[in-house]
Amino acid sequence: MNQTIIIPRTLANRLLTLAQLTPDIEICGLISKTNEEKFQVYPVDNIANDKNCVFEMQPEQQINAFKLIREKQQNLFAIYHSHPSSEAIPSKKDLDDAAYKDALNIIISLSTKGVLDMRGYFYKNNTIETVDLIID
Ligand SMILES: [Zn+2]
Repeated sequence: MNQTIIIPRTLANRLLTLAQLTPDIEICGLISKTNEEKFQVYPVDNIANDKNCVFEMQPEQQINAFKLIREKQQNLFAIYHSHPSSEAIPSKKDLDDAAYKDALNIIISLSTKGVLDMRGYFYKNNTIETVDLIID
């Protein structure tokens, strides 16, 4: 049975809005969770060469986001990125590049216009574990 994780609608909308701002480029970043169960989004620039189908977080921004999360005593909740023209399914590279095995991976797809296609995964032991995201 898949693990179920609840995502507040405000967070889902925020991620969708970020993805739609640059519909041809994969967006990426981190999401933290505070002790008060609040979520905070830390967008990071995508510096990959093929930004339309790959993401690579800008290293200083990524380190800085982690630093802020630590300083604010928050916890890393998820790593997110968008897929401008493919389904919200991890690519081989997404799996190969996964660095934080405990973090939820959220993919927002813009390939289905008008419908929010956001899915969650854990990458464990080089396999993909699908999570049932409930937007509430
Ligand atoms: Zn991807």
